[in-house]
Amino acid sequence: MNEFDLIRRYFAERGVRRADVPLGIGDDAALLTPPPGQSLAVSVDTLHSGVHFAPDTPPADLGHKALAVNLSDLAAMGAEPAWATLALSLPAADEAWLSAFADGFFALAERHGVQLVGGDTTRGPLSVTVQVHGFVPPALALRRRGARPGDHIFVTGSLGDAGAGLAIEQGRLALAGPPAAFLVARLHRPTPRVAAGLALRGLASAAIDISDGLSQDLGHILAASGVGAELEIEALPLSDELLASGIDRPWRLAASAGDDYELCFTAAADADLGVGDALGCAVTRIGRITAEPGLRWLDADGQACEPPPRGWDHFARGEA
Ligand code: ADP
Ligand code: MG
Repeated sequence: MNEFDLIRRYFAERGVRRADVPLGIGDDAALLTPPPGQSLAVSVDTLHSGVHFAPDTPPADLGHKALAVNLSDLAAMGAEPAWATLALSLPAADEAWLSAFADGFFALAERHGVQLVGGDTTRGPLSVTVQVHGFVPPALALRRRGARPGDHIFVTGSLGDAGAGLAIEQGRLALAGPPAAFLVARLHRPTPRVAAGLALRGLASAAIDISDGLSQDLGHILAASGVGAELEIEALPLSDELLASGIDRPWRLAASAGDDYELCFTAAADADLGVGDALGCAVTRIGRITAEPGLRWLDADGQACEPPPRGWDHFARGEA
């Protein structure tokens, strides 16, 4: 099977067809028609074998995750996903691998009405790059810089699950059965909070998705907004499965482990978030924005407590 057969079989003849794509896969470039009056929100992420995922990661999970982490960035901007491109570097044209990878990718793409409109396929070490394109009226985009003192801080879903999933995968946490399956699935198959991002347009004062850990990612909101924060460690939402895992001090994972792909956002104290209904997932208040810079952690009694480690930094080689 040559490169062109491979592209046709696994990527060109699949997935949704959108009316705003006059020309998709198959020419030198795709032709796309963004809606008038909206900004194009564009984001790209690369997943390298051995860096972002173990070489034996199930290919369907990888197809899902490569798209999910990008949709999560669109969600954090309040953008509506539309199109994706996919650059694949593969050591060999392994048809079983490609077929499973494409299944994982297209299942998620269809759920969000995303059309794959182009890409690149090369031979080399296993690596997956996805770029996504979405739409948002520029005045409604959720940016990192709008948090104000007195705003409340929220997160969607639960935190720390993917960190526990990674510990299980790496043999650092001995756990089996349904809780282990749940935690590993949270690592491999994150749920991009697209509906929440759309519902937060005009409500959230700032937003980010949690890829590198809450402390670190909230830190980006604080830096961009020129504010600080107090977080209540006991308020962090922990899943039943994380609590059942027996992991020591699970809130440390919730505060600093990456890969959960939940949204962290701020909103004025009197903002009506519709009690989470429109957001399509749980939303938990975890603290408040302060004028005083820096991030402070409070225990159940409101006393300052030890800060958890900050999160993942590729260039600092681990937990900074
Ligand atoms: P060119 O040499 O002009 O860059 P290619 O031969 O790389 O074109 O690609 C041919 C067509 O297939 C293009 O439309 C390109 O976007 C698409 N394509 C290539 N690889 C992929 C892929 N992995 N997923 C989706 N589309 C792809
Ligand atoms: Mg060309």
